[in-house]
Amino acid sequence: MGCRLKIGVIGAGVIGVSVALVLTRENQDVTLIDRSGVASGASGGNAGAFAFSDVIPLATPGVLRKAPRWFFDPRGPLSIPPRYALRIAPWLVRFWRASSRDRYEAAVNAQTSLMDLSRTALERLVTGLDLEGQLRREGQLQLYQSEKAFKAALPGIEQQRRAGMHIDLLTSAGALADIQPGLAVSFNHGAYIRDWINVYDPRVWVERLAEAFVEAQGRIVIANVSAVEQEPEGIAVRYDGADVSFDRVVIATGAHSGALLSSLGVRVPLDTERGYNTTLPPGAFDLRTHVTFPDHGFVVSRIRDGLRVGGAVELGGLDLPANMQRAEALLDRAAHFLPGLKTSGGTQWMGFRPSLPDSLPVIDFATDDKRIVLAFGHGHLGLTQSVGTAELVADMMAGRQPSINPAPFGVSRFGGVFS
Ligand SMILES: Cc1cc2nc3c(=O)[nH]c(=O)nc-3n(C[C@H](O)[C@H](O)[C@H](O)COP(=O)(O)OP(=O)(O)OC[C@H]3O[C@@H](n4cnc5c(N)ncnc54)[C@H](O)[C@@H]3O)c2cc1C
Repeated sequence: MGCRLKIGVIGAGVIGVSVALVLTRENQDVTLIDRSGVASGASGGNAGAFAFSDVIPLATPGVLRKAPRWFFDPRGPLSIPPRYALRIAPWLVRFWRASSRDRYEAAVNAQTSLMDLSRTALERLVTGLDLEGQLRREGQLQLYQSEKAFKAALPGIEQQRRAGMHIDLLTSAGALADIQPGLAVSFNHGAYIRDWINVYDPRVWVERLAEAFVEAQGRIVIANVSAVEQEPEGIAVRYDGADVSFDRVVIATGAHSGALLSSLGVRVPLDTERGYNTTLPPGAFDLRTHVTFPDHGFVVSRIRDGLRVGGAVELGGLDLPANMQRAEALLDRAAHFLPGLKTSGGTQWMGFRPSLPDSLPVIDFATDDKRIVLAFGHGHLGLTQSVGTAELVADMMAGRQPSINPAPFGVSRFGGVFS
């Protein structure tokens, strides 16, 4: 490595903290800046899964034939508040384009390469920092209520197997109960992904990484960044009256990245898929694995000693108020599917997934002079892809050949379409 760089990382979600930590471990001089603290955004309240099997983008061929019946059902798995319908329309057009067979296949390949990197990068980090105690290696159980639904899922499951996942197919209620007792009798088919990993608590995970960053001489500044500007002698980061110059800057502000990109003249079709959940206290249910209901768009995972019921997608932008009815709808459904579930005493939450229409993140230089790196847009997979993203960013910063092809994550892939 050449001279020690002074690097500013904006955004202390799981992406920014992971990037900052990996750069600090490469002996760079790193300052992490966040307006509301470590893990205060989507990264603090998510389902806590390293979902390495989720290589299939949302924009699958034919998706827009199925989805519209959900769009305007405020309690359905994929909804659009009427007030946001016009604003999200251009994003949906790009989403539809991304669902063409060739783009879909390219996205699966790109996602698989980033997942492979992220899996191995996670194991390196866990070993290096002794974080095994933060992980639960309990697998994931996907549940189906009919043979028809199960058969419809099989091509996707085969795709996940091709991506290196070990998956057992289960075709009786008894086989499901061996893994997760207490399911509603309507479930009779499933797939069990043995390689799936969860964290003890996603907030604690990011906090632990931030502690390791500070121990390695990293600095954390709480401030709202209003602009990033390229100047000949450095990159100026303007925040709360201050104006600090860095050699390099990383923008990792999740769903909120649009404002800082505008200050650089960069535009990408970034929007948000808002997601909801309820975290229940200890004793709510004897959950043995991460449980997914693919046909209903939600999951149930263990968080600390309690559990979290959540998911769904609401294409509602950053400004509309949260509609906690959606969290309630998921909890009601979970109570039907897990009849012994105790639903009282929960805490509701809504988070902003940073989402691009092709389900791939942007991990790229912002402009030709290569002093600013963008790392945002991980959608449903920010925790999962965080450590792989951090290694990719570190390679780019150091001028090393990246270990995977970064082209599919380029910022200009939307160029010419979005202006
Ligand atoms: C319900 C739900 C469940 C999910 N489950 C999973 C899961 O199981 N596994 C998985 O991998 N992913 C999951 N996700 C997705 C995951 O949470 C996100 O992809 C991830 O958290 C994005 O991380 P981030 O660091 O990019 O953004 P964020 O966590 O949102 O962090 C961005 C940070 O930038 C800061 N910021 C923004 N603007 C500025 C500014 N101008 N100046 C200073 N700071 C700024 C914010 O304060 C924030 O802390 C889930 C998401 C939701 C909503």
